[in-house]
Amino acid sequence: MKTEIREKVDVCVIGAGHAGCEAAIACARLGLETVIFTVSVDSIALMPCNPNVGGSSKGHLVRELDALGGEMGKNIDKTFIQSKMLNVSKGPAVHSLRAQADKADYSRSMRHVLENQEHLTIKQAEVCELLWENLENGQKKITGVKTFTGAVYECQAAVLCTGTYLRARCLCGESITYTGPNGLQAATHLTDSLKKMGIELRRFKTGTPARMDKRSIDFSKMEEQFGDERVVPFSFSTDPETVQKEQVSCWLTYTNEKTHEIIRNNLDRSPIYAGIIEGTGPRYCPSIEDKVVKFAEKERHQVFIEPEGLYTNEMYVGGMSSSLPEDVQLAMYRTVPGLENCKIVRNAYAIEYDCINAKQLYPSLEFKNINGLFSGGQFNGSSGYEEAAAQGLMAGINASMKILGKEPLILDRSESYIGVLIDDLVTKDNREPYRMMTSRAEYRLLLRQDNADIRLRKKGFEVGLISEEQYNALLKKEELIEKEISRLKNTSVGANKEIQAFLEKHESSTLKTAATLAELICRPELSYDILSEIAKEREPLPDSVIEQVEIEIKYEGYIERQKRQVEQYKKMEKKLIPETINYDDASSLRLEARQKLKEFRPVSVGQASRISGVSPADISVLLVYLEQLNHNSSKNGFDN
Ligand SMILES: Cc1cc2nc3c(=O)[nH]c(=O)nc-3n(C[C@H](O)[C@H](O)[C@H](O)COP(=O)(O)OP(=O)(O)OC[C@H]3O[C@@H](n4cnc5c(N)ncnc54)[C@H](O)[C@@H]3O)c2cc1C
Repeated sequence: MKTEIREKVDVCVIGAGHAGCEAAIACARLGLETVIFTVSVDSIALMPCNPNVGGSSKGHLVRELDALGGEMGKNIDKTFIQSKMLNVSKGPAVHSLRAQADKADYSRSMRHVLENQEHLTIKQAEVCELLWENLENGQKKITGVKTFTGAVYECQAAVLCTGTYLRARCLCGESITYTGPNGLQAATHLTDSLKKMGIELRRFKTGTPARMDKRSIDFSKMEEQFGDERVVPFSFSTDPETVQKEQVSCWLTYTNEKTHEIIRNNLDRSPIYAGIIEGTGPRYCPSIEDKVVKFAEKERHQVFIEPEGLYTNEMYVGGMSSSLPEDVQLAMYRTVPGLENCKIVRNAYAIEYDCINAKQLYPSLEFKNINGLFSGGQFNGSSGYEEAAAQGLMAGINASMKILGKEPLILDRSESYIGVLIDDLVTKDNREPYRMMTSRAEYRLLLRQDNADIRLRKKGFEVGLISEEQYNALLKKEELIEKEISRLKNTSVGANKEIQAFLEKHESSTLKTAATLAELICRPELSYDILSEIAKEREPLPDSVIEQVEIEIKYEGYIERQKRQVEQYKKMEKKLIPETINYDDASSLRLEARQKLKEFRPVSVGQASRISGVSPADISVLLVYLEQLNHNSSKNGFDN
């Protein structure tokens, strides 16, 4: 006789990719009984595309996630094989850490964390159905999930992190397979259940390049790319001395006219250009076909050859993702200097999958019309491991806060890239996979990757993911920074012979009158380190403190100006819009604005101002209407 398996837990996390891992670990660390589902336990934290974590703006996300108590930063510090701080020739706002990962080791290490996490159970099973009940207010409330084998897991909250697996199909020229990445099983049943719950779905696509056998590559025709001599860890909890190790190289080569000609001659066989692919692809991660068509004037495109790990000969061909047929792929790759005799281990391919438009979510990443259902990652319409992990953490934290009866953690655009990411996803009508970029963050001089702990560690401590010890270490760091900045601002040096000689040595203009050490540090040719020559008595300080002191002093003017802009921004964010507002009553609002506001139902005037189609004039009308509403309700004895 068949017995139905019925388990009772607090949270079900559907997906063990970069989003699901962060969500599940957060819930379990906050003491909630959590089950994490995946179609294959061997693919936990799989990197189906580029073998690296971080890079421009993505490094910021990883640092912020780490400051809040997430896992990705620690995991890449344990499994990286090359590390580089990007954009060091530019200002600190765009300095970004990027590390090459040993993919197999990254997945193994994250699996180890999950397997040893208290309150967390891993289940290899395809979730096919969400279970719910209807509430009196017409909303639905999640009550559980059902797997392909019929097992039921009752829960108070669920987090959807299905990535690129929902009704996935992979395309390599005319060859189409109905699988997830790397030939893994696709999740083909859940979509119908989501649609039944009233969730709108759409098709997105992304692509990956071929993997080559290292022994078939001629590296003498490429430029070797080295990691940094002194490695900076991603995690604020990682001791920098533990990440100083031997590193592998990456290699740079280029496509050429022969490559482009082969692609142009075979565009009719590309599923993208033949219209076979339905899903919309990422503008900022274009396939090589797209690059050749859209940037026809470019004679060559960069190609980065990156190792996939220490114990594999597979090399990733960065910059040449494609879905052209296998024979065309071989021909095009073999025109690239160094790849003339390349052997393809895995073909390039494109993958299509179901995902949502995140405007269906609150900034807490909970569905507006389904109580207790949250989502994160590629399923929300983003692209990238880091974007996924950041959302997964926030969805996990907020599912936990909901169960624990606490306020959700909402980060705004002036506090973090995570705030920018989620606000853009839930407020902007993104028609393609969303990828983070520094240009998306208005206040990027304040949102640097080096001060993520100062910006966010307190919030991680308040939600319960950061320990007292970690939080006290941050308070100590802040105290040291403040003390040293004050010392430098209040310590003057005279225009004496020793100082003048020091300034001449560093080709810096000599002093006419006394100057503070802070004023000297502001000189581009001088720095905190250089000043050690004339400030022999000073206490030794940790590198991370010196970094903050120097940036705060050198960029003080810009930082202060940006802080004033943030004050303006926060004023609008604080102007909340009542959930019950009926925009049709605001008759002087333009029709388009009314339609958009009804569609997005923003939580604040600030969020309303970022919805495309809502103009500044509409915002003024809305502010007046809210004043009237306030006035009427206080006249009738209600508070808004
Ligand atoms: C071919 C390819 C190319 C890519 N190219 C790029 C790129 O160029 N640039 C870029 O930034 N990113 C790229 N990515 C995206 C990147 O891989 C993702 O952004 C990232 O992996 C998303 O993480 P995630 O946690 O949201 O989902 P995923 O890593 O996809 O993980 C999803 C998880 O959900 C599980 N799952 C799904 N449905 C179910 C179900 N019903 N029941 C149980 N388990 C389920 C799966 O087993 C898996 O564990 C690419 C991905 C692929 C596959």
